[in-house]
Amino acid sequence: MKYHIITFGCQMNISDSERVASVLESMKYKKTSNINEADLIVVAMCSVRQTAVDRVHGLAPKFKKMNKINKNLKTVLTGCVLKKDKRNLSKIFNYIIDIKDIQKISDFLEDKHGVKFRSSEILRQKDYLNIMPNYSSRFSANIPIMTGCNNFCSYCVVPYSREKEISRPAEEIVCEIKNLVKNNYKEIWLLGQNVNSYKDCACQCDRTDNCKEINFPKLLKMINSIPGNFWIRFTSSHPKDFSDELVKTIAGCKKYKHYLNLPLQSGDNNILRKMNRPYTAVQYKNLVKKIRKAMPDISLSTDIIVGFPGETKKHLENTVKLFRDIRFDMAYINKYSPRAGTSAAKLKDSVSPAEKKHREKVLTEILKATALSHNKKLIGKKIIVLIDSKKNNIYFGKSEGYKTVKIAQESRLKTNCLIGGFSRVKITNANPWGLEGILI
Ligand code: SAH
Ligand code: SF4
Repeated sequence: MKYHIITFGCQMNISDSERVASVLESMKYKKTSNINEADLIVVAMCSVRQTAVDRVHGLAPKFKKMNKINKNLKTVLTGCVLKKDKRNLSKIFNYIIDIKDIQKISDFLEDKHGVKFRSSEILRQKDYLNIMPNYSSRFSANIPIMTGCNNFCSYCVVPYSREKEISRPAEEIVCEIKNLVKNNYKEIWLLGQNVNSYKDCACQCDRTDNCKEINFPKLLKMINSIPGNFWIRFTSSHPKDFSDELVKTIAGCKKYKHYLNLPLQSGDNNILRKMNRPYTAVQYKNLVKKIRKAMPDISLSTDIIVGFPGETKKHLENTVKLFRDIRFDMAYINKYSPRAGTSAAKLKDSVSPAEKKHREKVLTEILKATALSHNKKLIGKKIIVLIDSKKNNIYFGKSEGYKTVKIAQESRLKTNCLIGGFSRVKITNANPWGLEGILI
């Protein structure tokens, strides 16, 4: 029996899929990258924007066609699924299973002979985050340290699809990373909708005075002290939870590489208030100042939403101003997408699609210029690159600042370059979206 997984969305969804794969392999399913060969198709979906939901609906004709050829084909939907989408999507999928209950997939499926699957160690796990994932990379691992979100930004479905914040025990996270490092993993991504509100009440005291709570900075220090040559990265972090202790900790952790995604969403205080983002543009700017003072070489990215209900040209100007001032290295610029059930969905989606596109373009142009000027400063520098892929005989990798680096072909002949290993590279060229270099 063969399975095929389709993943839409962020690193958290990729991480979900790695757990789904692990559950299926424990049931003796074999992975196939060819969807047409599959007996079981699992879709890990994202609900953050309507376009992602539409893509899942778009699978219906394909499934119909496949069902005609393979009558036993089963389809399962999981990931970030909203209650209100379930009814419609249940017309396309045989089963919709909450990611938190993914072990229960065995209750629905039978093997070739119509026999139910025997309960394995994995299928008996109560908490899905305890399932050892089937990592999709052999050198870069996604480790969810927490899931859910308590922030209820007015536009966002995550608190509804992922529900309340739950942190994984620090001891378990450290143990997983130790094993990965032993197995030569070079990049550890700590994941969560809001990683910096991580809290493990390790003493299980119900938060009395002597509570030995492990917060995010403490967790980072524990991971940083694991012996071995590896990089630590994390995403996403919320500006409101970015404490002085966290700034000091990341500046002091040698294994934390200086790349930070710090979602701003808007540079206008009125819009930030309507978004339920509890900081002002000046507070965000001061936080960036503090972070850059502690780590002058930090590469900074952000998330922005353009066209939030009621966003006028004046409001956008404030975002443009902040965007110019901060000079981001990278930004994920999203066009506002109304999500039913969120409080912003009650407001009129006042900005037209064409205007949203225009606003996205305005910010992208600024980003192009600021990213290029940051990248140009790296020309002539010798940096470490984690090589991650090879296309048409050209190697690619990521710098410590998470910039894509293209390795010139001829330099490979002189030095060995391994996918999944660190290489020293001299940067010879720069563009807004990446760097080029030669191996040294
Ligand atoms: N926890 C992170 C973001 C997680 S969602 C934070 O605090 O910012 C990833 C990104 O999707 C968000 O940063 C936001 O820019 C975008 N996003 C979320 N809901 C959206 C919506 N309704 N329309 C457009 N973009 C949205
Ligand atoms: Fe969504 Fe992030 Fe806000 Fe949580 S903090 S509601 S995940 S945008």
